[in-house]
Amino acid sequence: MRQSHDIVIAGGGMVGVSLALQLAASLPAATRILLLERFQLPAPGEEGSADYHPSFDARSTALSYSSRLIYEAMDVWTDLQQWLCPIERIHVSSRGHFGSTVLAAADYDWPALGYVVENAWLGRALLSALHRQGRVEARSPARVVALAPHNGGTRLQVEDEAGVAAIDAGLLLVADGADSGLCEQLGVSINRKPYAQHALIANIASNEPHRGCAYERFTDEGPLALLPLTGTTGAANRSALVWTLPESRAEQLKGCTEEAFLRELQQRFGYRLGRLRQVGERHSYPLQLVQATEQVRRGVVVVGNAAHALHPVAGQGFNLALRDVAQLCRAIADGVAAGRAPGDLGQLEHFRLAQQQDQERTIGFSDRVPALFMQSDPLLGIGRDLALCGMDFLPALKRAFVRHAAGVAALGEPVATVHKGDRGRGQANG
Ligand SMILES: Cc1cc2nc3c(=O)[nH]c(=O)nc-3n(C[C@H](O)[C@H](O)[C@H](O)COP(=O)(O)OP(=O)(O)OC[C@H]3O[C@@H](n4cnc5c(N)ncnc54)[C@H](O)[C@@H]3O)c2cc1C
Repeated sequence: MRQSHDIVIAGGGMVGVSLALQLAASLPAATRILLLERFQLPAPGEEGSADYHPSFDARSTALSYSSRLIYEAMDVWTDLQQWLCPIERIHVSSRGHFGSTVLAAADYDWPALGYVVENAWLGRALLSALHRQGRVEARSPARVVALAPHNGGTRLQVEDEAGVAAIDAGLLLVADGADSGLCEQLGVSINRKPYAQHALIANIASNEPHRGCAYERFTDEGPLALLPLTGTTGAANRSALVWTLPESRAEQLKGCTEEAFLRELQQRFGYRLGRLRQVGERHSYPLQLVQATEQVRRGVVVVGNAAHALHPVAGQGFNLALRDVAQLCRAIADGVAAGRAPGDLGQLEHFRLAQQQDQERTIGFSDRVPALFMQSDPLLGIGRDLALCGMDFLPALKRAFVRHAAGVAALGEPVATVHKGDRGRGQANG
C-alpha cells in the first residue's frame, strides 16, 4: 500500500532533527510527520553507527543566544546544559599585528556570548528529545533515491532494507546537506563559491584553563578559532580548534605527528592557554559558500546546509538554519490553524520573506569576515588593526558586532533577559 504523510523531512542531520522536533511541537497531533535518514539513527543511549555522522561528528558548534531561545522553546535546552560551555569572552586578534579586542558578555549584562557544545552531545540530546516526544515517525536507514511532483505535493522513492517504496508528501522539507542530491533532482540550481580553504578541526588540551574565553585569531593563512569546551576526566582544560588553511597545509597538519602539530599550532596561536599538550582526532572539511537559488515552492522547502552552507569563521551556519527552522514552523503552524495545508505556497512565502533579511545579512557577514582578515595589503592590515583596537573605543560598533554574532540582531527585539545563575554553568575547568 502506498503511504502518504502531511510532511516528510528528507535528511536527519542537526537541521532535519531540529525541524522534526519543532514541527511536532507546533502542529496538531493529527499531522503526520515522517523523518527519513539514509544512515542508521542511533537508538536512545546508543552511540550510533560509524556511518551516521554528517552533523553529529567530531566537530563542536558555537550556539548563539538566538539558538538558546529556540532550544528552550523546544524543551531541549535543559538536557543540553550538562554539555554546554558558556562563552564569557571572545578575544579577537591578528597574528603579527598589534590590534586585538575583547568582547565580554558582562559588558552587555548577558549570561554568555554563546555556548559551545560537541556535535556528538548535541545529536544525543536532539535524538533523545525526538524519542521522548514520540510524535514523529523516524525511519533509518532510509534514503530518498528519486522524487517527482505529484498531486500538488511530491512522490518520493525511498530505499530501505526492504527495497524501494513510494511515499507521498504533502510538504517535502529538503534537509540533505550541502551536496544536496535532492535539490539537483528538483532542478533547484545551487551557487557555489569555493574558498580554496579547508577547516581543520580537533580538540586540544592545554596547561592553562580557558576561563570561558573563545579565541579568534586571524593569520596570513586564514582564521584560527579555539572555543572553550567543558572538561572531562583526564582532560580538564579542553578547547575545540577550527583552523582554516589552504588544502595542502590542512592535509599536512592532519597527517603529521602530534608533536609537530602542537608545535605549529603553538607558534601560530601563542601562549594564551599556556602550553598546548594534547590533540584529539583531526578532521578536515573543504569550505565553500553554498546557496540554493530557490528556497520555497508549493509543497517544497529547502533548509539547512542544502539551502545555505557558510564559512565557519563566524560560527553562524547552524544558528541561521535554526532561526529558519523556527520561522518556517511558525508560518506552517499559522497556516494549518487557519485551515490551510502545510505546503500552502502563501505560508511558505511568508517564511521566505520573513527570513530573507536575516539570511542576506548573516551570509554576507560570514562571507566578508575571512576575506577582510586575509588581505596582505599593509594599508588594509593597518585598517584592520585599527578596526580591532577601535572596537574598544567604539562601544556602538562593538555592540552591533556582538549582537550580530549572538544572532539576536535578527530576532528584532532587545535582549533584556539576564539569567545570572547561568554564568559559568557547565564549565568544569573555568
Ligand atoms: C568546521 C565547521 C565548524 C562549524 N561550526 C559551526 C558553529 O560553531 N556554529 C554554527 O552555527 N555552525 C557551524 N557550522 C555549520 C554547521 O555544521 C552546519 O550548519 C550543519 O552541520 C548543517 O546541518 P544539516 O543538517 O543542514 O546538514 P548535514 O549535517 O549535512 O545533514 C544532512 C543529512 O541528510 C542525510 N541525507 C543526505 N542525503 C539523503 C537522502 N537522499 N535521503 C535521506 N537522507 C539523506 C545525511 O545522511 C545527513 O544526515 C560549522 C561547519 C563546519 C564545517
